[in-house]
Amino acid sequence: MSGYKTMTKTNPISLSNNLQVGGNDILLMMGPCSIESYEQTYAVAKSMHALGLRVIRGGAFKPRTSPHAFQGFGLEGLKILRQVADEFGLLVISEALGVEQLPLVAEYSDIIQIGSRNMQHFPLLWAAGEQPKPILLKRGFMSTIQEWLAAAEHITTRGNQNIILCERGIRGFDSSTRNVLDVSAIAHIKTSTHFPIIADPSHATGRVDLVPAAARAAIAAGADGLLVEVHPNPAAALSDGDQCLPLESLPAFVDDMRRIADAMGRGLT
Ligand code: PEP
Ligand code: MN
Repeated sequence: MSGYKTMTKTNPISLSNNLQVGGNDILLMMGPCSIESYEQTYAVAKSMHALGLRVIRGGAFKPRTSPHAFQGFGLEGLKILRQVADEFGLLVISEALGVEQLPLVAEYSDIIQIGSRNMQHFPLLWAAGEQPKPILLKRGFMSTIQEWLAAAEHITTRGNQNIILCERGIRGFDSSTRNVLDVSAIAHIKTSTHFPIIADPSHATGRVDLVPAAARAAIAAGADGLLVEVHPNPAAALSDGDQCLPLESLPAFVDDMRRIADAMGRGLT
């Protein structure tokens, strides 16, 4: 065996605004961990728009380890995110924490995120399968690839085939980084399934200084996109400030990603 395995053909997923994930272009999705204010979201969207980026992320319902941490602004956050996105013609991705929030998040977002902690929240997967919006299914941080793919099947068997997988790091033994980015998992998904796969280098590393390297590695391994946390003032962020890229760094970051995409024979959106 040569060691070179032909990649399985990914089934691209069509989004609104003629966008695709899983096609030739790498899709860069960025935004703050949490939607904190109109001004914060506007500053992020403005920087993204200036660079031609098309999909903004932002949490309104936040899965926080501590009940005392900021839990997100809920519906108010979704409204801000949608309003700002529409001002700049961007698509929206945001997380639904529970079945009861799914219709609300679907109403305000173009892609519904199911977070790492909810990868095996089966009623949520079933509800996601019974509605048409694309689902970004993050890998559980303690889950095997097989469990992850089985979770995706809980969605597809209910009808919705529009699933984007997201490798966001799994728990390791070394506290130097927040998680361990499983680059092999990206390659494995790419060679053995039809699902588009993206990477989240922010939650994988937990450290802004490591985000670009992890992002480069993910694209080189075959990722179809990235989900990256950014903030106008990371030091003041209400969640995940340590891993948010400051807006000033975005042009260099996007340039960097474009070079790797180019080396892989791919474009970048
Ligand atoms: C997030 O994207 O903000 C998030 C909470 O991610 P994860 O589910 O990967 O921890
Ligand atoms: Mn976060």
